Amino acid sequence: MIELVNWRKHLVPSVVAAVPLFFIGANISGCGVGQTAPASTVSTSPEKAGVSRNLLANQNKLESSHRIHPLVFGPAMPAAPVLAKIQSYAATQTAPQEIPILMYHSISNHPKNTLCVAPARFAEEMKHLYEAGYHPIGFNDLNQAWLQHQPLPKKPILITFDDGYEDNYQAAYPVLKKYNFRATIFIVTNFVGRPNMLTWDQIHFLDQDGLIQFGSHTLDHLDLAHMSVEQQKRQIFASKQILEQKLGHPVPAFCFPSGRYNSTTLQLLQQAGYEFAVTTHPGSADMNQGRWSLDRVRVSGDEAVSAFDSIFS
Ligand SMILES: [Zn+2]
Repeated sequence: MIELVNWRKHLVPSVVAAVPLFFIGANISGCGVGQTAPASTVSTSPEKAGVSRNLLANQNKLESSHRIHPLVFGPAMPAAPVLAKIQSYAATQTAPQEIPILMYHSISNHPKNTLCVAPARFAEEMKHLYEAGYHPIGFNDLNQAWLQHQPLPKKPILITFDDGYEDNYQAAYPVLKKYNFRATIFIVTNFVGRPNMLTWDQIHFLDQDGLIQFGSHTLDHLDLAHMSVEQQKRQIFASKQILEQKLGHPVPAFCFPSGRYNSTTLQLLQQAGYEFAVTTHPGSADMNQGRWSLDRVRVSGDEAVSAFDSIFS
């Protein structure tokens, strides 16, 4: 096996603008009943301004209306295009132009919410990846492979978690640690420390441990596609600045809230110094998609474990 390099050694500091930060005191929780979402200083529509809502349910609605993912809707929506791409790649095991990036959210027992994958199921899925010979990598490794033509281990894959739920630390991390799997958690910086969300202490611990890399998921998890340039800039630049100040090293990856963005977003990401950004568009990541709009494979909580296994068989 090819040894992976320490990603921190290969990152260069980015220059980010100083942007005022406002912390909002609203509550947010994971996949539970009665959860509320934070208010925000940046509002894109009346329904998003200071109104409690179920974050995950809202995301599901937004993403469902924006993108249709074959794995989410079960047998009625054939998953053939995504599966065929991944299966084709997995079968060849050649130097990858395409690499699957798995998209998780909460690892918790809420079967009615497809964005929540049960801990036992998550453990089974990681066991499957391990036994199938997959090697989870970080975005730094992707950078090395795609931009500097460095080798990767066989069957590379990226594991990502959106939003920064505390169960990523409580339920997912011990499993990742068991297999020495790298993963990336995309943090909404204004959500940190709220109920059911990661705290800065937990983020710092995971960052120091080395397996978990953190990326930005903006300040407030709002729809970037409906923001002014200045509003987008604040969400993109300030979240990166906060994470880098807290962690003490560059943050190379970004994740669009609910997969929403426009051409301005892509320009701002590059100006801010992000090396990669991931969408909710289904499929394996391919450099030809552009480094700031990479496809991902959503892992849904309502599909059978066999469905997950079939992605890689
Ligand atoms: Zn999100």
